[in-house]
Amino acid sequence: MQRRTFLGHAVAAAAVPFGAGPLIRVARSRLPAQADGARVNAWLAQFDRIGRTPGGINRVAYSDADLAGRSFTLDLFRQAGLTPRIDAAGNIIGRIEGTDRALKPIVIGSHIDSVTDGGNFDGPLGSFGAIEVARTLREQGTRLRHPLEVVVWSNEEGGVIGSKLAIGDFKAVDLDGVARSGKTFREGIGLVGGNVAALERDVRAPGSAACYLELHIEQGGLLEQAGLQVGVVQGIVGLRFFEVTVQGIANHAGATPMDQRHDAVLAAARFTVAVNEAIRSEPGRQVATVGRVVPSPNTRNVIAGRVDLTVDLRDLDPAKLQRFAERFQRIAREIGAASGTTFTLREFTSSAPAIADPAMMEAVESSALALGLSRQRMPSGAGHDAQEMSLICPMGMIFVPSVGGVSHAPAEFTKPEDVVNGVNVLLNAVRAVDAR
Ligand SMILES: [Zn+2]
Repeated sequence: MQRRTFLGHAVAAAAVPFGAGPLIRVARSRLPAQADGARVNAWLAQFDRIGRTPGGINRVAYSDADLAGRSFTLDLFRQAGLTPRIDAAGNIIGRIEGTDRALKPIVIGSHIDSVTDGGNFDGPLGSFGAIEVARTLREQGTRLRHPLEVVVWSNEEGGVIGSKLAIGDFKAVDLDGVARSGKTFREGIGLVGGNVAALERDVRAPGSAACYLELHIEQGGLLEQAGLQVGVVQGIVGLRFFEVTVQGIANHAGATPMDQRHDAVLAAARFTVAVNEAIRSEPGRQVATVGRVVPSPNTRNVIAGRVDLTVDLRDLDPAKLQRFAERFQRIAREIGAASGTTFTLREFTSSAPAIADPAMMEAVESSALALGLSRQRMPSGAGHDAQEMSLICPMGMIFVPSVGGVSHAPAEFTKPEDVVNGVNVLLNAVRAVDAR
């Protein structure tokens, strides 16, 4: 698809005469709204100085840099006319009331914490983009029917902690566990202005929001590769994670003939190749990874008697995940029988896919279309706060390209024009959802 620039569209919008008759008014009302994307780019540039170290951006949750980032963000809330409050889980929330008191809020946002040695766009783009949307609506005098809530979730990179707690998934978070900052979650939440004793009070119940929309960088290279400007996220993939033990017989590497071996490393290698071939044998975006392989005794002159390895399997479709999980079991049995080893697969953890709501995808897609942006539907391979919000309300996500597909690294970058596009798609998607 042809790439059309944002500038080209802005020129077209400016060409429409103002104050003309009713026909022109209809035409003008169909024009997409424009946020001040340059402002978001300027905020991102300023934000890049907070927590920047020689290794990359270090704003891990509850660290001094995270606190500095939150204070910067709180200022942006205030400048936008959003009086921010901190909920019990430490999430920052700003709200604009709507014209219809009966309606639930449209919630938009992201996070500002980073991984260790990460980048400046994963999270801040969607957080600042959401603040800008609220600010644009106020500045343009647009009152939504729904209340609009801007949320900057706390500690996303530590396991979507802020959003998990906000929807009442307390069991999933060990408050006495130690976060990457070295503080416990309990200490960290207190430090950022939350109150773990009041978590129950602030729970967002199912149905308590009209919807949730999140703008985020893609964190992969599909959009860039396809030359597309916007990703309409179909959902966040589900994960099935297996720990596999291959049991062979350890023996002398010199004295054991090749036809009398029960070589666990060889069997593990065959299994790794077979998993890769299986996952690639059907069309689709499913992925499987053998990521950790630990042979023992892991010695030069001994045939390995045992290998422990992991398989990480992800896709949007639970049925497909189940099918591949069974196929991997079958492959393991066959390779075990052929190599004189025994495979044991244990499912260690799993998470269900979080599917985007069709109406939210439609709102994102029609906004991109109105803005003249090229787009495609695609899954998110990474986890986001949106997966938690999908448990209580319809969810949608907007992706914009990551240069080189790089993320969670210092070189993480999204071009200024893609930042502008993303914020404009979010703005118009919010307006579309509000009008429904
Ligand atoms: Zn993120």
